[in-house]
Amino acid sequence: MPTTRYEGVIGLEVHAELETRSKMFCGCAVVDSTTAEPNTVVCPICLGMPGVLPVINRRAVEFAIRVGLALHCEIAPFNRFARKSYFYPDLPKGYQISQYELPIAVNGWLEIDLPDGSTRRVRIRRAHLEEDTGKLTHVGDSSLVDFNRSGVPLLEIVSEPDIRSDVEAEAYARKLRAILQYLGVNSGDMSKGVLRMEPNISVRPVGSVELRTRTEVKNLNSIRSLQRASAHEIERQAKVYEQGGLVDQATLGWDEIRQTTVIQREKESAHDYRYFPEPDLPPLAISQEWIEEIRQHLPELPDAKRDRFIKLGLSRYDASVLVAERAVADYFEAVLSAGADAKKAANWIINELFARMNKAGLDTEAIGSTKVAPAALAGLIKLVDAGAINNSAGKKVLDSLYAEGGDPAEWVAKLGLEQTRDTGAVETVVEAILNANAAEVTRYCAGEEKVLKFLTGQVMREGKGKFPADLVQQVLSSKLAGRCSG
Ligand SMILES: [Zn+2]
Repeated sequence: MPTTRYEGVIGLEVHAELETRSKMFCGCAVVDSTTAEPNTVVCPICLGMPGVLPVINRRAVEFAIRVGLALHCEIAPFNRFARKSYFYPDLPKGYQISQYELPIAVNGWLEIDLPDGSTRRVRIRRAHLEEDTGKLTHVGDSSLVDFNRSGVPLLEIVSEPDIRSDVEAEAYARKLRAILQYLGVNSGDMSKGVLRMEPNISVRPVGSVELRTRTEVKNLNSIRSLQRASAHEIERQAKVYEQGGLVDQATLGWDEIRQTTVIQREKESAHDYRYFPEPDLPPLAISQEWIEEIRQHLPELPDAKRDRFIKLGLSRYDASVLVAERAVADYFEAVLSAGADAKKAANWIINELFARMNKAGLDTEAIGSTKVAPAALAGLIKLVDAGAINNSAGKKVLDSLYAEGGDPAEWVAKLGLEQTRDTGAVETVVEAILNANAAEVTRYCAGEEKVLKFLTGQVMREGKGKFPADLVQQVLSSKLAGRCSG
């Protein structure tokens, strides 16, 4: 039996494409590289032809500063680009323009919320600007290269190794993705490769502060894969040490099907890249005035939005769920603008709408593409609030809205779900139910109050959702009182 407990020591490198209109150093458009016709958005600069000169995209620098400020970083007033030389078929110049000794943002932090309700601050070491490479597709024995992505602005955000488990890695990734989405600099769509995450992972005995040999996992295409690969690697390395072995430094890939890490190559070190100052670009000076101007125009970020939602009466948990993806937060706010109560809107979205989306295999961030318009959900909530329909009828209306869209009031009419305040009709049904459940009535009269809930349910079901709950309670109580004393 193992006597030592191990903890993970994880640092995360995140590559985020900056979704500017044009590329980092040329005028070519930034396009969706999963759908655009290959090699149609290229020019001599991003194809790496000899003799051309790159020009820095000001908007990309602004986006990088936005991210740096949101991550509480210091923005460097003096930046320099560097050449990172290596050969790869997706890199026509034979080097990538990056930043090395003088990155644009340093020394920040990101606070993550953990499932147990605690928070942890993960330090951000640096964020630097660079250009993306082309994309290789392997077909049989051949490789095809698409340079549409070549030269797309990329921000590499590097954390300190402050992450201790796969759960924390997931929380960090989700929070960072949300911030990039809120800032409007990245869609967060990992399946399209616009956001890529590479954890470096080592383990150590709990309580120790040493840093042991680490491995790096490449090419993770979802947050789920990041979490699973981290969990797997922590367990694998702990086992190696428990058996008296040593972990080898290596670059690993994640095999999604076999749920295991596989060795790709031995790690190269920084001097292999022969970094030197990029001679084709001047140093980049960033004025304090510009930084302040960008700071003043930062949008409301997830933490601030969460706190504002809590002030509207939401629980911390519900508020965190709603801000975790910008699309969901936007949808929730649109439901509120259409006049719905905040707490009720949160309940209907989290408990009802998400359940229907989940059943249909939809991710919560697809909320904007469902047929339930925010105004329709607000209308439904108001109908329930006003007592026009009860809660279970409301769920039926939501089913119809989800399947076909449309207006909630029209669905209420079409499905015949309007409540009827017809005391006579309710009395008839209550009498019939009490007659059919004589034994339950006797138990109720003997003091077994929970029977009331059962009888209420029977009456409501018989009423097919059309009886107002308060009227049923009222009639049932008075009829039962009569029977108990009779
Ligand atoms: Zn170009």
